[in-house]
Amino acid sequence: MLTDNLGIFMEKGGTIAFLLAKKEIVVVDSQFPDQSKHLIDELKKKSENPFTLLINTHHHSDHTAGYISFKGIVEHVLAHENSLKNQKEVAIKNKSEDKQLYPDKTFSDTWDEKFGKEKICLYYYGAGHTNGDALIHFQHANIVHMGDLVFNRRHPFVDRGAGANMKSWMEVLDKAVNKFDTNTQYIFGHAGTGYEVTGKADDLKKFGDYLGNVLKFVDGEIKAGKTKEEILKNKIIPGGEEWKTDGIERPLTAAYEELTAK
Ligand SMILES: [Zn+2]
Ligand SMILES: [Zn+2]
Repeated sequence: MLTDNLGIFMEKGGTIAFLLAKKEIVVVDSQFPDQSKHLIDELKKKSENPFTLLINTHHHSDHTAGYISFKGIVEHVLAHENSLKNQKEVAIKNKSEDKQLYPDKTFSDTWDEKFGKEKICLYYYGAGHTNGDALIHFQHANIVHMGDLVFNRRHPFVDRGAGANMKSWMEVLDKAVNKFDTNTQYIFGHAGTGYEVTGKADDLKKFGDYLGNVLKFVDGEIKAGKTKEEILKNKIIPGGEEWKTDGIERPLTAAYEELTAK
């Protein structure tokens, strides 16, 4: 629990947040079907209230595959309009539409609703990790679920196929730091080994700096005449020494493609 009625759940996949409101339960993200079943069991022990809303930070399956376990249990599912589009596209491609519980509500720029003493506000600040990442602010608790807009000291997946953009991602993080305050606590989709899935504005700034350092580094390599293959051999980014977990080829590839796109 992060407060008396707001907590996080982690097993496998993107970090889940849940709100035990006075009359209902709200859940953000769902990991995979088994993980969601475990979550539902755990939350039923804590509260007898109904699940009224599932909010999705974005469409990736480590956040949405578990929705199916909420079928017939939850009243509504809410996501950014691009997230729904992306989820449908991927499911059709993978022939897994029968395993989806799609959002029945979407928003474009902002959305808010009161849940007892808590007010949940959603914001969309443009392309980042995908083109459909929602920031979810629990105003009373002053906690923001950033979804996969923050990989805390872990190399991120940059889903260019779903409209991701690293330069715009940096702006999204800046907007978040300016919107919320120094006491705001953040929840992150993923973290590197030894790092937390919660943090402060400073972690957002560090991740933004890291994205900038990746772009700067790859730009310099391209200008020095290096090939994509040569660039992908690098294991560490100058200024990004805290990002040590595997997967560096993902942001390097994305940066290369973004910088050489016509
Ligand atoms: Zn994720
Ligand atoms: Zn993701």
